[in-house]
Amino acid sequence: MQTPDYTAARLLDDALAGRAVPDLALAAGGSLRMVTDGVFDLLPAQAGASNTDVLLTVGIHGNETAPVEVVMAIIDDLLHGRLTLARRTRVQLGNPDALRSGERYLDYDLNRLFDGRHAAQPDMREAAHARRLEQTATTFFSSSHGARLHLDLHTAIRGSLFEKFAIQPYLHERPTARARLGWLGQAGIEAVLLHSAPAATFSYFTSHRLGVDAYTLELGKARPFGHNDLSRFSGIDRALRALLGGADDGKADFDPALPLFRARYDLVKRSEAFRLNLADSVENFTPLAAGFVIAEDGEERWIAEGGGERILFPNPTVRPGLRAGIVVEPVTLD
Ligand SMILES: [Zn+2]
Repeated sequence: MQTPDYTAARLLDDALAGRAVPDLALAAGGSLRMVTDGVFDLLPAQAGASNTDVLLTVGIHGNETAPVEVVMAIIDDLLHGRLTLARRTRVQLGNPDALRSGERYLDYDLNRLFDGRHAAQPDMREAAHARRLEQTATTFFSSSHGARLHLDLHTAIRGSLFEKFAIQPYLHERPTARARLGWLGQAGIEAVLLHSAPAATFSYFTSHRLGVDAYTLELGKARPFGHNDLSRFSGIDRALRALLGGADDGKADFDPALPLFRARYDLVKRSEAFRLNLADSVENFTPLAAGFVIAEDGEERWIAEGGGERILFPNPTVRPGLRAGIVVEPVTLD
């Protein structure tokens, strides 16, 4: 493990090119080890001292490069002793093929292929990535002894009234982990969607199948490698450093001022006649005034009823049968 000149930039180059990454020592103690293509373990010097195991996923969508750069800068500081690792951590590059080409995906949206959905799309190149990510998340958390946290880091093309927001996947019978939402607020997250139905996303898989505290984070604008203004990601950067360095455990007092929303219903496109009555440029969380006809599809109309409804992830160009947007409404914790 004598490779002092090995940087995180080289690690990313090697990983994206499909080359093996050597075992590396972290200068302040601990090690970095490649588990399989695009998956790396960061192990603290005293493995038993980690009472929170952290899975970080970046690049599920290949055009969302800022989270990759944020996490690589942290790895670089760990390699060179500018940060000391306190948590057993696994880092996953979600879709290396798409990251290489700067595309959201090559054949199929990877974040619609989890929780076994990949088995129905075996010919899609993303199916193999969904399997790899599910398997390496499962093996990582199966040898966990303490708290378990999964953060799946994204950025978005569309603007958002809340620039940084989190999605808590549907928890079924489990209670909301208030202290995690408190910590997300400290990390600069401005709003949280509490999802109310199963989904084929990675965070739903780790939450539901593995019982992990899991969140999808939308952290701002998607730009190509080298064009990100990383100062806009300082909140999550600081929070991840405090978490991995052991200064906090990914929990904090919940602030009731943090806006929370729940999905009221999905706008499901039934036919090619579907029309969304919002501009292409409409931002996420744009309020929908009472009486406004949000969308129409033949005889069917979706009308805003007031009560603080807002639009999330509008996309009228999806294929019929798929979700063309979510109508959300404010909610408070009991
Ligand atoms: Zn994304």
